[in-house]
Amino acid sequence: MKLGRKQEEFKAYISIITIIALILDLFLIGKDLIEYFSTGSFMHDGVYFKYYIFMLFILMFIVFKFVKSRFIAKESVTIYEHGVDINGHQIYFKDQKVKRKGFWDKLVFIDHSKQHVFKGDLRNDDKRKILNMDILKEQWLLDHHMHTEVSWDSDALLEDYVRRTTQPLVTTEHLDFEDPYNDFKDNIPDYNQQKLNIEKLEDKYSNKVYMGLEVGWTKKSHDKIMNFLEGKYYDIILLSVHQNGDADYLQKEKFKGINKEEIITQYFDDLLDALDHMKDYVNILAHFDYGFRVHDIGVEDLETYGKDKFIEICTIIIEEDIAFEINTSSMYRHHNEYLYDWAVPIYMSLGGDVFTLGSDAHHASNYQYQFDRAINFLKKHKVDSVQNLFHSFDRFEFKE
Ligand SMILES: [Zn+2]
Ligand SMILES: [Zn+2]
Repeated sequence: MKLGRKQEEFKAYISIITIIALILDLFLIGKDLIEYFSTGSFMHDGVYFKYYIFMLFILMFIVFKFVKSRFIAKESVTIYEHGVDINGHQIYFKDQKVKRKGFWDKLVFIDHSKQHVFKGDLRNDDKRKILNMDILKEQWLLDHHMHTEVSWDSDALLEDYVRRTTQPLVTTEHLDFEDPYNDFKDNIPDYNQQKLNIEKLEDKYSNKVYMGLEVGWTKKSHDKIMNFLEGKYYDIILLSVHQNGDADYLQKEKFKGINKEEIITQYFDDLLDALDHMKDYVNILAHFDYGFRVHDIGVEDLETYGKDKFIEICTIIIEEDIAFEINTSSMYRHHNEYLYDWAVPIYMSLGGDVFTLGSDAHHASNYQYQFDRAINFLKKHKVDSVQNLFHSFDRFEFKE
């Protein structure tokens, strides 16, 4: 059972009062005993009855706690060396803090993001079952798409993001080979630099920072992408299509003479191709509308030239557990909310319900850019929560 904040506070007050009463009580008993040994008689006959009753209550309380922890374990929880398993969902902590707690010989696991506290009895090493668990779960709304100086097109310092929040963060840096937007240079994020930046800031601040990547896929660069990924670990990988080999879809002038049908067809074909090659390696389909950010594509154009392909795209991501990104830069900077109005019902009608929010920030001031609006947008579409991909069981539920 999850207690509300008020109830937690009430519980804390009661505990404090109980402890004070107990200390006072012991003091009085001690005083009476000293008196007994020095004078041979009690001054206050009958007062012990009150003490016994009080001690009985304390004893009952302890027995109740013990029985509850032994026999009323609602969740199935197993602790491993580097994480826990709650009802089959495995959560790995990179930097768990383990504290030994008092004479009960219990361990308290606090994960680095401070999202959960687990109390477990670890006396039996073979079983390592948690007997008593409190999940102090704060609801956190996470930004799953952010760039820092590790990306070629951003000067933002990770520290500037970290300073803005106590929540966990992820940086999703650009990997784009032969990028037309950058004179066909290879934009390769420095893996070690990204890792080092994260480690440094995790030492300095309490936030957990996750390591992410935004893969800009082209058929031509597929092998290079796979070579780059070889032997590297990312907490999260976004899949994007930014270009068609000749031009980035934001380079509007390079699309002169190409009609809307061609743009939609080519872009969705590339997305399908990208998913086909990358579906086993990625977690989120980023900005499904990137190809249409600057080309004045209307809902009717998509209905006519793109619907079948978009249905195919949705079917794949649903099957492969790839989240659908609500990209607030697309929606509110490039004014494409209406395209999401078109896409979200199609995705949902096929059974899709895994949404993540991403600001696509390239500057810390755009962290969680227009998330309020995006939540209202999702509520309008009868979506009541977004996924937090770092703890797979965890969702941020919208309040009414
Ligand atoms: Zn992108
Ligand atoms: Zn991005």
